[in-house]
Amino acid sequence: MNNSDILVIGGGIAGLSAAAALSNHARVAVLEAEEQIGYHSSGRSATMLHYALGDRLVRALTLASRTFFENPPASFGDVPLGRRMPVLVHAREDEREALDALEAELALFAELERLDAQGVHELCPLLNEKATHGIADRYGIRLDPHALLQGNLRQLRSRGGELHTGQRVAAIGHAAGAWTVTSGSGERFSAPILVNAAGSWADEVARLAGVAPLGLQPKRRTIITFDAPPGTDLEELPFAKTIGDELYFAPESGRLFASPMDEVPSEPCDAQPEELEVALAAYRMEERTIVKVERIHSRWAGLRTFTPDNHPAAGYAGDAEGFFWLAGQGGSGLQTSPAMARIVESLIAGTDWPARDVSAGDLDPRRFLA
Ligand SMILES: Cc1cc2nc3c(=O)[nH]c(=O)nc-3n(C[C@H](O)[C@H](O)[C@H](O)COP(=O)(O)OP(=O)(O)OC[C@H]3O[C@@H](n4cnc5c(N)ncnc54)[C@H](O)[C@@H]3O)c2cc1C
Repeated sequence: MNNSDILVIGGGIAGLSAAAALSNHARVAVLEAEEQIGYHSSGRSATMLHYALGDRLVRALTLASRTFFENPPASFGDVPLGRRMPVLVHAREDEREALDALEAELALFAELERLDAQGVHELCPLLNEKATHGIADRYGIRLDPHALLQGNLRQLRSRGGELHTGQRVAAIGHAAGAWTVTSGSGERFSAPILVNAAGSWADEVARLAGVAPLGLQPKRRTIITFDAPPGTDLEELPFAKTIGDELYFAPESGRLFASPMDEVPSEPCDAQPEELEVALAAYRMEERTIVKVERIHSRWAGLRTFTPDNHPAAGYAGDAEGFFWLAGQGGSGLQTSPAMARIVESLIAGTDWPARDVSAGDLDPRRFLA
């Protein structure tokens, strides 16, 4: 039996960042089903930090996370966690009111520039004539998920924490104030506190523990990559998003990537791209830009997992002692991970609360059990 103070199920960004923060206070072990960390959602994202994602609560969590990405602790190593990339939200003439409303909302969080058609095309020459209005945040960050995952792992290990990969949790029991977890290979791990950071599988893990599920819904999202038109200055391109949730694209390793921003309900699984969404990404790219998607270079899909109110859940379960939820990060789990990890640290270890305009009640998983 492996004993620790806190067991974390899930070696994605949620589990690893929380484990790294908690390892300051306790002996922490992370159990990950796959052979590598970040294999599911955390390794498949669009990796942007921007404020056009989610609502006011998500934006507040993002704002509270930003400094961490810009100035990571020395224990993360010296690899930057991201690079500056402007964010452009663009709109057609008939979408102007929606852009006005978003600008008013985002102005609370970011320094924005309002752009006319000329400004939009100067910032993103690939957009076609339909884009006549825009707002730009020159301080978006394209995150490096590999550096982020490895930095958290490095910090965890430097404080004596452990990662066990290839350990799919198959059974969970609770007796005499301790959780005992058995993996598919028969290894056993025990701790008084169990953090459920199993991403799309978090409700399944709760069921194994006899804890009521939250009603999480994984939703598939698809990304394709393809060549940019010859002569495109990829270094200068922004992350460009339609005001409605139809399309985003950005430079990606010498090419472009695009997503049709699909949200197809799914079971928890190793998500794969479907032809329909792949075709939709190419179609919308051609509809909104001057790019011809002649050949798709690569494609992938991942799950974004939502709670019933689309806000993350972080806190102890109401129906089981020492069972802590960290789930439902939806489409913003990377950009909110530093604040969420510090929130978990605050709720479990009693450190200062890290996020203004976010309360423990906003995230309390017991809100779903009324
Ligand atoms: C296409 C796409 C684009 C995105 N774009 C962005 C973006 O631009 N910005 C942003 O901030 N976020 C973005 N996201 C969202 C972000 O990727 C997620 O919110 C985040 O990765 C969730 O992290 P997680 O650790 O909860 O989940 P995961 O990374 O899925 O980790 C959960 C882990 O739990 C493990 N697990 C499950 N069951 C068990 C078990 N029984 N035993 C042991 N281990 C188990 C899994 O193997 C998995 O590794 C995007 C997501 C997708 C798919």
